[in-house]
Amino acid sequence: MADSAVSAVLEGLAGIRTEQEGLYRDVHEHPELSHQETRTAALVAGRLRDAGFEVHEEVGGTGVVGVLRNGDGATVLLRADMDALPVREATGMPYASTVVATDAAGAEVPVMHACGHDMHVACLAGAAHLLAAGREHWHGTLIALFQPAEEVGDGARRMVEGGLADLIPTPDVALAQHVMPAPAGRIGTHAGAALSAADSMRITVHGRGAHGSMPQAAVDPVVLAAMIVVRLQTVVAREVPPGETAVLTVGSLQAGTKSNVIPDHAVLQLNVRTFSDATRRTVLDAIERIVRAECQASGSPAEPEFELFDRFPLTENDAATTDRVATAFADFFGERAEPVGSQSASEDFSDIPTALGVPYTYWFVGGIDAELYDAAEQAGRVAQDVPVNHSARFAPVLQPTLDTGTQALVAGALAWLAP
Ligand SMILES: [Zn+2]
Ligand SMILES: [Zn+2]
Repeated sequence: MADSAVSAVLEGLAGIRTEQEGLYRDVHEHPELSHQETRTAALVAGRLRDAGFEVHEEVGGTGVVGVLRNGDGATVLLRADMDALPVREATGMPYASTVVATDAAGAEVPVMHACGHDMHVACLAGAAHLLAAGREHWHGTLIALFQPAEEVGDGARRMVEGGLADLIPTPDVALAQHVMPAPAGRIGTHAGAALSAADSMRITVHGRGAHGSMPQAAVDPVVLAAMIVVRLQTVVAREVPPGETAVLTVGSLQAGTKSNVIPDHAVLQLNVRTFSDATRRTVLDAIERIVRAECQASGSPAEPEFELFDRFPLTENDAATTDRVATAFADFFGERAEPVGSQSASEDFSDIPTALGVPYTYWFVGGIDAELYDAAEQAGRVAQDVPVNHSARFAPVLQPTLDTGTQALVAGALAWLAP
């Protein structure tokens, strides 16, 4: 029975808690930017090896994946992300980061685990250890995957491109979790679209430059770009069905250098959030159609250029998989586990199960001191008083967050490995 297997495997938690908390503090104090997670990767690879996993390192850069074969049965993949953010930590924690690093553009930046990926690392390292130590209570294959560069949206894809499918047996299911600003000790599941897809686009439109006093000699890209911005406001309002959610924001518009010079091009940067593949296609197609048509309307002398970047796939939890995990959570956590709504954040985790052709679910772990959260909620001040992910003040309370995230991974995996 999964129930008794979960309790049996988790009996080991008390024995590893001190070491696991130490790993969390260590990773928190030594955060690494996306694609630079070499220290963190070495820490987890060493632990997986010690626990008896077959370990592959430098998968898609700094990715690590461990495989533990334990007889016939299902194969479960558990995933954690490892990267930190260019944020100067202001939590005041005794193990706060003072790290400064060089980012991909060559700038010196402060670095902080402001999204809780250090917690994900410590939870998965602990769960992998516990499942390996308690292997007489289950059978099948466990895959522990530590992914780089979630924050820039390409770490999962790079692991796939780095040959992940050839290194591991194809899993039956993939599971992942994220710390969020909710009371610590709580777990939230969501069937269907749990996180939005995100797409950023850079668009260059071309005009013909001229003296500001002689517009007849120009094709003015400033006016062209302005028309595009206005017309793009109709995409969500007029092309997306009323029951669907989408966001289209033009965050940057740049053209020209001087008041009396008509420039020869303009660059727009925009961000799109959608909750279904159909809406995503509708919005992206509409953007391209409108830009091309406005260029034609202006008599633009060259085709516009489109560059997609910072793309995050939709995180769409499989219903049957989510149900199985939710049942396992209800058995173990009782009322501490509950369904939650979808979130407007984005993730690249699903690139891995999608590439492998397997179902997945992704759940949320509360990370805020429960008393602090309740007080903020009673005062109607959650938005003001509870630090959110990516804030310089965001650090999950160590316990019960670490225990809860570890227990969730063990219970989730055993729903397949000890059914
Ligand atoms: Zn983040
Ligand atoms: Zn994150």
